Amino acid sequence: MSDHYERVKIELQQMKAVESEAAVDEEQLSPASVSSVPADASFAARRDLSRSSINGRSRSKSRSKADGHERQVNGKLMSDLTPLKPDYSQEKGQSRASNEQNIKGTLKLLKGKTPANGHVESCQRQTEGKCEHHGKEDGSKVAKKRRAVTVDTSKAKTSLEALKMSIRQLKWKEFPIGRRAACDIYWHGVSFHDNENIVSGQVNKFPGMIEMLRKINLSRAVRTMQELFPEEYNFYPRSWILPEEYQLFSTQIRLLKDNDSTLKPTFIVKPDSGSQGDGIYLIRDPADLRAISGSQIKQAVVQEYIQKPLLIDKLKFDIRLYVLVRSLEPLEIYIAKEGLSRFCTEPYQEPSQKNLSHVFMHLTNYSLNVHSGNFVHSDSCSTGSKRTFSSVLYRIASKGVDIKKVWSDIIALVIKTVIALVPELKVYYQADIPPGKPGPTCFQILGFDILLMKNLKPVLLEVNANPSMRIEHEQEVSPGVYEYVPSPVDEEVKVGVIRDTLRLMDPAQRKQHATLNTGDGSPEDAIAVETGSDEKESLMDSLPTLCLKQVFPKYTKQFNNLRVAERIAAIFIRFLGVKGTMRLGPTGFRTFIRNCKLSNSSFSMASVDILYIDITRRWAGMLPDSREAGMCLQAFIEAFFYLAARRSKAVPLREQVLLLLEVCEGALEGQSHSHSEKPRPHRSQPTQASAPNTFSSPALTRRHHLRQQPMKLSAKANTEN
Ligand code: ADP
Repeated sequence: MSDHYERVKIELQQMKAVESEAAVDEEQLSPASVSSVPADASFAARRDLSRSSINGRSRSKSRSKADGHERQVNGKLMSDLTPLKPDYSQEKGQSRASNEQNIKGTLKLLKGKTPANGHVESCQRQTEGKCEHHGKEDGSKVAKKRRAVTVDTSKAKTSLEALKMSIRQLKWKEFPIGRRAACDIYWHGVSFHDNENIVSGQVNKFPGMIEMLRKINLSRAVRTMQELFPEEYNFYPRSWILPEEYQLFSTQIRLLKDNDSTLKPTFIVKPDSGSQGDGIYLIRDPADLRAISGSQIKQAVVQEYIQKPLLIDKLKFDIRLYVLVRSLEPLEIYIAKEGLSRFCTEPYQEPSQKNLSHVFMHLTNYSLNVHSGNFVHSDSCSTGSKRTFSSVLYRIASKGVDIKKVWSDIIALVIKTVIALVPELKVYYQADIPPGKPGPTCFQILGFDILLMKNLKPVLLEVNANPSMRIEHEQEVSPGVYEYVPSPVDEEVKVGVIRDTLRLMDPAQRKQHATLNTGDGSPEDAIAVETGSDEKESLMDSLPTLCLKQVFPKYTKQFNNLRVAERIAAIFIRFLGVKGTMRLGPTGFRTFIRNCKLSNSSFSMASVDILYIDITRRWAGMLPDSREAGMCLQAFIEAFFYLAARRSKAVPLREQVLLLLEVCEGALEGQSHSHSEKPRPHRSQPTQASAPNTFSSPALTRRHHLRQQPMKLSAKANTEN
């Protein structure tokens, strides 16, 4: 590793040395295709320009499933949908007293007074269907006064068109084939590693995000949080990981049915790394799994199927929301004010043996439904098989629904989900970008797929690490032949999200933000301070209001107490010892126990070793693809829960864990600077032979016991609606 970092350091110095030549080099490297749009060009004209660039390049392409991206098309025009504050009383002109007034107030917000997407835009008559666009200049005068921000777009893949448009709108500088000197921003289409050896700037992917958002890992991360905060994390359907939990799944469902013979649950089986509905099927009994997959059950998640979704026009639909994780440390989360709603194409009926295989009835994926004869491409944002989320909110608001509550529930779901992912992401991050070493910082746009239940409770279906940012949509031009054609609505939503992400990641803005960020500062404030007051005015005049809304740290107070696993991860990372690893060796684990003073006469170091071996071996069996030996974070968390339960027996798990955290953090305080206390690099792993054959640790018993507790499916809860 050290060689690598020496090399990287030298490269960095070399890059700095060539920086002065860069201006010349840049022009030489930068292809002529990076056109600048006249400052007074109207949006419509610019859009035409960008269209013609799409058209000129390749107006239609044959369909392909590019780079693990979802295919996604259509979508509608944005309106200004302001995510709502949990404290409704803070909303100007809003009254909590009457639901009717609430809706009126919210509808006012929805009427789109604020330009949200690079253009003054409005969906003034949502119910009438057509969206109106008005062009607006969005060039930044401030951008002219400082060096243009440089963006390497060479690996942008399917997001390239939307990215190019965003860069043009911001008057930044694009490097379509990369650049010899470092860029400010690297836009990757797939993963952090699309470009190797980036030593500075910012990359639009976090290391490990793809891995973390596979269905099994997401389920595991949420499950850990469910164990600590069962009520807070009940937005994720009950899930079992296959094949390892098949027996548990069978037993629990059998018990459930034995207890209540009227219960007719349905389950959805999702392959671990599947997307776009590929390989998904519904079952009504665990035995069906064996019948379908035979003796070899593949890696998958089997999940309680939400039987009573909210319907519109008798159709099931889901919501795609774009979420920006701007930074992990400090944690910063933004939500796009507009999203997409994707509709099924066959009227919904509750699952029965007869309709179980009707994909157009049960699965909302665009990629599937576009093949149904009933799929409706519409120019309107409130009809058709893909609509804006705001148009859906309008519809349900007109029926007397408190849509502020729906929004604040969704915001809570998003923040809690990101909080569940952060501990593991930090482990990946320090492995790829160890602190103190040269490396980029990261940010990432995620695609949250959310289902609204009939009782309006949002349910998390999945999170996409690479949500489609295509601004073209797929059309069947003749039977079986598909082409991509420009999609104005995708352009509206996605260009806004990318452009405003770039604005938030503007290095100058970030620098100001970092010095200003006292915990609840807003990016708008940062922009205001970055420029002089005149400049501020012209900036605010020329740029639209951000379509991304900060929700964290804004709502720190409401959610910070949930960040318990992150504190455990901080201890784990501290004892990893060797930079660049993600697994804790036995020496590191022992050092953790010793430094935190957790062993005593009733818990000897021999027991510590046995605990380590037992948990690590079991997790190794559950992570067959892993090449690295040692204890992963999830296994460490399990060990931590066990140790917590040993120390304080009579209180709930969360209290046990908090008490142990205090003990550990207290003991470690002050040790940070003492070199002698730091764990030494460990190389040796315990041999399999040294491990006892059976060790039923109370931790395992406790977890197992938890899983055996009576299960409540929301399918049952649904019947109350
Ligand atoms: P993929 O990544 O393959 O799209 P998803 O988890 O998004 O997998 O599931 C595909 C579709 O199946 C969703 O868009 C939704 O319509 C439906 N779906 C997924 N999970 C559930 C669930 N637990 N209950 C009801 N419908 C679900």
